[in-house]
Amino acid sequence: MINTKLLAKLCEVAGAPGHENRVRKVVLEEIEPYVDDISVDNMGNVIAVKKGKESKRVMIGAHMDEIGFIVTHIDEKGFVYFHTLGGFDPKTLTAQRVIIHGKKDVTGVMGSKPIHLMNAADRQKVPTTKDYFIDTGLDKKSLEKIVGVGDTITRERKMIEMGDCLNCKSLDNRVSVFILIEVLKQIKTTPPYDIYAVFTVQEEIGIRGANVSSMQINPDFGFGLDTTIAWDTPGSTKQEQVSALGDGACIKVMDSSTVCDYRMVAYMKEVAKKNKIKTQLEILPAGGTDTSGIQRMNPGGSIAGAVSIPTRHIHQVIEMVNKKDVKASIELLKACVEGLDSYNWKF
Ligand SMILES: [Zn+2]
Repeated sequence: MINTKLLAKLCEVAGAPGHENRVRKVVLEEIEPYVDDISVDNMGNVIAVKKGKESKRVMIGAHMDEIGFIVTHIDEKGFVYFHTLGGFDPKTLTAQRVIIHGKKDVTGVMGSKPIHLMNAADRQKVPTTKDYFIDTGLDKKSLEKIVGVGDTITRERKMIEMGDCLNCKSLDNRVSVFILIEVLKQIKTTPPYDIYAVFTVQEEIGIRGANVSSMQINPDFGFGLDTTIAWDTPGSTKQEQVSALGDGACIKVMDSSTVCDYRMVAYMKEVAKKNKIKTQLEILPAGGTDTSGIQRMNPGGSIAGAVSIPTRHIHQVIEMVNKKDVKASIELLKACVEGLDSYNWKF
C-alpha cells in the first residue's frame, strides 16, 4: 500500500531541532532524481524545486525535526541532566530508552524515583521533566570521553506494523516528510505552477525553518504537512477527538497558529470529492504548524491550507498512524498541487 521501508528509515533516524543532518541526508538521497533543483539554506532547510508550466510558486512544507533533549550537565556519578527541545509530556518519559548523540551514539534510560520510595505526596504529584535523569551505565570519566554539554538526545524506538497501523517514534513529522517525498516521486507530468518542496528545520521549537524559507520563496500558494491529534481512543468524546485514525486524510480548517484560507479549504474538499479520496476536516485547538510560516512570513501572504495526518499517542515514543490515511494524504496533496490552475481563486 505504501513504502513502509522508507517510512521506517525516515522515522528511525535521529533529528532533534537544529540537528536534522541525518534526516536531511535521507531526504537528499531520495528526492535527487525527481526534482529540477535542490538547495540547502543556511539554517538547513532543504528546498527542492519541480518546475511548472507557469512561474507561480507553490510552497509545501514538512518539518524534519523531532522533539528531543539537549545535555545540560553530567554529575559526578555520570548521570546526565537535560533540557527539552519541544513539547514533551513528562509522564511519558518514565523508563524510556533514549540515545545521546555524542562523538558516537550512547544509549541511556530515563531514570526517576522508584515507586517503593515515594511517599503519599510523591504519588499524587504529576512529574516534570526535572524529575528525570539519564542513566547510561557509564561512569563520568568514560561518558565524558563521548558525551558533553550541548549534545542532543532523541527517543529510541523502532517501527512496527500493527494491523493497518504503523507505530514508531517521530511519526511526527517524518510521515509528512515521507508523504512529500512520495508526491515528488509520483508527479509524472509538468505541474501547473513551480513546486517548492521544503523539508524544514526547527518546527518543534517554533516554526523557525519554515519562516525563513517562506520569506525566501515568497509563495503564491502554500500547503503545510504535519501530524494532528487523533483523540479517538477510550476517554474521548466525538466533539473533542480532532481526528480519527482510518477516517482519511485531514483537510485543515485551522490550528492555533493558522486560519486556513477558506478558498483553499473549499478547493481541497472539491479535489477530494472529485478524486474519491477519503478525508475529514481538522480543527486543532492547541498546537501550531509550518502552515503559519508558509501563509504569513512573506510579502503579501499566500493562499494556504494544510494536509494533516491523524496520529494517536502524539509526542510520545509510540506514535501511531494508519497506512490508509497516509496513502489518502499522498493522493490528496498530489491532486491538489496538480489542479491548482483549475480553480477560481477570486475572493
Ligand atoms: Zn509536527
